[in-house]
Amino acid sequence: MGSAAAHADEIVEPRLRIAEGGAAGSQVALTLDACSGKTDARILDALVQNRIPATIFITGRWTRHNAGALAVMKAHPDLFELENHGLNHVPAIEGLPTMYGIKTAGTPDAIRAEVQGGVDSMWSAAGVKPHWYRDATARYSLGAVGLIEKMGYKVAGYSLNGDEGASLLAASVEKRIAAAKDGDVILSHINQPTHSAGAGVVKGILALKARGVRFVRLEDVQTSQTLDPVHMPKPLKTAAAVRMSSGS
Ligand SMILES: [Zn+2]
Repeated sequence: MGSAAAHADEIVEPRLRIAEGGAAGSQVALTLDACSGKTDARILDALVQNRIPATIFITGRWTRHNAGALAVMKAHPDLFELENHGLNHVPAIEGLPTMYGIKTAGTPDAIRAEVQGGVDSMWSAAGVKPHWYRDATARYSLGAVGLIEKMGYKVAGYSLNGDEGASLLAASVEKRIAAAKDGDVILSHINQPTHSAGAGVVKGILALKARGVRFVRLEDVQTSQTLDPVHMPKPLKTAAAVRMSSGS
């Protein structure tokens, strides 16, 4: 069953959308990843002050060092839905050694341990049981998607990349987020307080709010998702073999 194995190793990028607001006006879901490191208080404060709901994906390793921010999120259950970003921020990928330079889980056992480790850390640190899982790179092997769903969790993609891993400058982040359309799931980061991007997240969401766009959390709304295939470059080994056989 070589083809079935190859199929399981196929890389996909889940594209998640929420139901459109329709006559009631546009609605979007703001999802923020807390991968590791610290908390961006600019974003957290703005969400609390402006009463903007968000879905926060937290890792075990972020949770260990951000008890204060976690307490703020827990103190506002009407605003913050907490979901699972894994124990150690590992891509749920088999069949490839790295994704964006991050070492992948590599095996079903390692994927299970990463997902379950995140679940356990959320329970012990916050008393929360997650329903959604988003891995480190928002890319998955097809086999991993099946495995995570079998564990009882929904895989959380996105439709609008707000900050490219908090790497963009504030002005372009603001522009991207302010341009969100009805039904979009926005992805940005809440763990990079020293990056310019976070200031753009705040301005972008305030622009949406000023336009009358409503913010909903993933648990409060109907969602739909497609698994978009990602075409990865061929492994180096194959390229070398091709060069050798052509005699160059
Ligand atoms: Zn992350």
